[in-house]
Amino acid sequence: MSRGDMAKPLLGHRSMEGDSSSTPAAGRTIGVLGSGDFARSLAIRLVCSGFKVVVGSRNPKRKANLFPSAAEVTFQAEAVKKTDVIFVAVFREHYSTLCDLADVLAGKILVDVSNNTEINHHKESNAEYLASLFPACTVVKGFNVLSAWTLQSGARDGNKQVLLCSNNQEAKRTVAEIAQVMGFTPVDMGCMSSAREIENIPLRLLPAWKIPIFLSLGLFLCFFTYNLIRQVIHPYIREQKNKLYKIPIEVVNTTLPCVAYVMLSLVYLPGVVAACSQLYYGTKYRRFPDWLDQWLQHRKQIGLLSFFCAALHAVYSLCLPMRRSHRYQLIEMAVKQAVEKKMNIWVEEEVWRMEIYLSVGIIALGLLSLLAITSLPSIANSLNWREFSFIQSTLGFIALVISTLHTLTYGWSRAFDENQYKFYLPPTYTLTLLVPCTVIIAKVIFVLPCIQQRLLRIRRGWEKGRYVKFVLPSATGEFSSGETSSNV
Ligand code: NAP
Repeated sequence: MSRGDMAKPLLGHRSMEGDSSSTPAAGRTIGVLGSGDFARSLAIRLVCSGFKVVVGSRNPKRKANLFPSAAEVTFQAEAVKKTDVIFVAVFREHYSTLCDLADVLAGKILVDVSNNTEINHHKESNAEYLASLFPACTVVKGFNVLSAWTLQSGARDGNKQVLLCSNNQEAKRTVAEIAQVMGFTPVDMGCMSSAREIENIPLRLLPAWKIPIFLSLGLFLCFFTYNLIRQVIHPYIREQKNKLYKIPIEVVNTTLPCVAYVMLSLVYLPGVVAACSQLYYGTKYRRFPDWLDQWLQHRKQIGLLSFFCAALHAVYSLCLPMRRSHRYQLIEMAVKQAVEKKMNIWVEEEVWRMEIYLSVGIIALGLLSLLAITSLPSIANSLNWREFSFIQSTLGFIALVISTLHTLTYGWSRAFDENQYKFYLPPTYTLTLLVPCTVIIAKVIFVLPCIQQRLLRIRRGWEKGRYVKFVLPSATGEFSSGETSSNV
């Protein structure tokens, strides 16, 4: 987590499940102010969850038929008189029109469900604004992260979490109980100062994906340009051959595996950098720089994008023989052989290279699929820590090694063929090998006993320059103890 992030309230993080007080929430009467999409979905879900619902509208007669018959639709003042908990399903701009209700609302809990149209749109959050308009009420921010659709379809579809915050613990607990009875998971986000953060959440567009997506697009652009120069521009300039037809499939298909492979190595590179930093400083208590922190946090997304590119590469490769250009080339070759009266074109080395290349490629894709599937929260939650780290760390590293074999068998001896250096540019695969091979070599070095032991001690709390009694697990799994200090 970056230093900036540490100052912010944590998202998510204290589930209020099991916090229920002895008063059962179900069966109580809940008020809803407003009769729009959200109010309707909320009323339906509340009724289905066993609550009595009273809806307050400016025009109850016109709106009544939009609500389930079990919900009472009446004037705003009438509705709020009948309940102590009222969901304000009205836009912020219209809060002030509710001020006439201030007297009847006094002492009641108002649940602010509103969202804005822009991040940090107003100086104060909507919930704080509502609280300032109704100082005699207790305001709880919540439910805004759910869409009307999620509410209506119930907690089995879509996001189950309801983030709540309020300056009043009791009111927050009451709303949390209601959320729980509705089948959602209430998450305590602390006091009212978190409301702005909660209101910004639905407005964020894939925040965790921005850096990985830009990274993969950047890599794609670089490799695409490089391949374009080698496969299209070079033959055009040197031999006046028009190879533009290669752009949609061939150039893209040589670019995708490069991106997939480098991205996969970028999942494991920050771990290597972090380990080097720990070895260098001799402690695990020193904060990583923000860029490394961010990188470590985005590994899952980088890995999933790597899988995405690898899967596209597989589909593109399967489609290669379907191309018209491929058929023409095959026929051309056959005719040439007939003219030259060549009967046997079997090249044993090429046959073996292709068999191995395809086989390791399929295995690498299979392992990447496994990594992608186990990174899904529902699957990850069903694994214990050891299983998760075995799949993501050990199998992930094996996938990187197998992808390296796939790349090497693709390249074979091309790196030593001077005809492959178009405009003196080395074959693309040699460039892609740089980062993954660095990661693999570093990982092998970390397995050396002297390095592994030191890293293990650091990760168990040992620090350079501190004299501590240290206990190390021996190779047999038993624990051996010894005195240790910085210079040991
Ligand atoms: P909507 O369909 O436009 O409904 C708003 C309701 O506000 C109207 O039906 C109206 O009901 C009531 N209202 C009270 N005073 C009003 C006034 N002076 N002028 C206009 N309307 C007034 O909006 P919505 O989609 O239900 O959203 C309601 C709130 O829920 C918003 O704060 C929104 O940010 C939040 N929210 C919505 C969603 C969603 O998926 N729609 C998701 C999360 C949060 P009466 O005419 O019966 O009084």
